Amino acid sequence: MIVTLDGPAGSGKSTTAWQLASRLGVEMLDTGAMYRGITAKALDRGIDIATEPHAVIELARSSEVRFDWTQQPPRLWVGRRDMTDRLRDHDVTNWVSDVSSMPAIRHVMVKAQRRIASEHPRLVTEGRDQGSVVFPDADAKFYLDASPQVRAKRRADQLRAAGKPVDLDQIREAIILRDRKDAARKDGPLICPEDAQRIDTSDMTSEQVVDFLAQRVRA
Ligand code: C5P
Repeated sequence: MIVTLDGPAGSGKSTTAWQLASRLGVEMLDTGAMYRGITAKALDRGIDIATEPHAVIELARSSEVRFDWTQQPPRLWVGRRDMTDRLRDHDVTNWVSDVSSMPAIRHVMVKAQRRIASEHPRLVTEGRDQGSVVFPDADAKFYLDASPQVRAKRRADQLRAAGKPVDLDQIREAIILRDRKDAARKDGPLICPEDAQRIDTSDMTSEQVVDFLAQRVRA
C-alpha cells in the first residue's frame, strides 16, 4: 500500500505524513530529506553548487542515501555520514531547490525512492513528485496546499522547536522563492496529479487533516 502526499513547502505534508503513517502502522518516506541530505553533504564538502553541478551529481551517484527507521524520528544517512541535524539549516534550505532541479540528481533520487518502496511496500511517502512521477500507481494520492503566510508560520514553528533562529519575513520570502523554483523545474514539476485529492490545509489543524486522509485511505 502506497499513499502519496505532495505539495509545496510548509503545506503540512511532513507532519501529516508522519501522523498518518503512524496511524496506519506503516513507514513514512520524507523525500525532501533526501534532497536536503545531498545538498548538505555537498555544502559540507565545500562544493560550489552554482558552478560545480557535476561535483554534486557525482556525490549523489556515489553516496547511498538511506533512512535508519529504527530511530524515532528516523535518521538520514548519506554515505557514511548521519546528516539529520543539518537538514533544516538555512544554507541547506536555500540551496536545495538548485540541487533538486538537476535532472541527474532527480534520476538518482527517484531510483532510490523506488528501491526504498520495494523494501518497505507499506508506505506513506511525501514530496513534490510522489504521485505524479515516482509512484503513478499509488493506492491513494493527496495534494496538500496552504497560503504562503500560513506555510511560513508553520516553518517558523518547526525551526523554533528545533532551536534554530527565526525571521518570519525571511522565511516567507524564501518559501515564495522556493515555490517559484520548484514550479519552474523542467523535470518533475510540482503539480497536483489529476487523480490526487487536493486539500487546502490553511484553516485545518494537523489532526483534522490526518483524520480526513485516514478516512479516505480506509474507504
Ligand atoms: O519538503 P522539503 O521542504 O523538505 O523539500 C526540500 C526541497 O526538496 C524542495 O524545495 C524541493 O526543491 C525538493 N524536493 C523535490 N522533490 C521531492 C521532495 C523535495 O524536488 N519529492
